[in-house]
Amino acid sequence: MAPGTRLVARYKGADYEVEVVAGEPGKTRYRFADGQEFKSPSAAGSAVMGGIACNGWRFWSLEGETAAPAAKPSPKRAQAAAQTAQAAAGKARPRCPRCGKQFVGVRQLAHHEANADRLCIAA
Ligand SMILES: [Zn+2]
Repeated sequence: MAPGTRLVARYKGADYEVEVVAGEPGKTRYRFADGQEFKSPSAAGSAVMGGIACNGWRFWSLEGETAAPAAKPSPKRAQAAAQTAQAAAGKARPRCPRCGKQFVGVRQLAHHEANADRLCIAA
């Protein structure tokens, strides 16, 4: 967690905020606006909760991420849906019951069947 990052939490109707600040080399501390510092998000969350053990990563959210982002379909999912639709369209295509040839529409199939002696390899 980079120094300067702000973490926010709501507990019992009150909003809390800690700022990530640089501590000892390679370490960060979590500082409340009143100057209290804790060495982990869990310790800071626990302090908010009056000493109850706390999973800091669940307790705190990155500032600006408190509102659940609107669910957007992932491109992969959209692609899969398109493929499913294509497969369904493929299934819906009329097929000659004799030779199995597939047609783009019922008219093409009707034409094929009407001229089966010429067009249908199974006739
Ligand atoms: Zn046919």
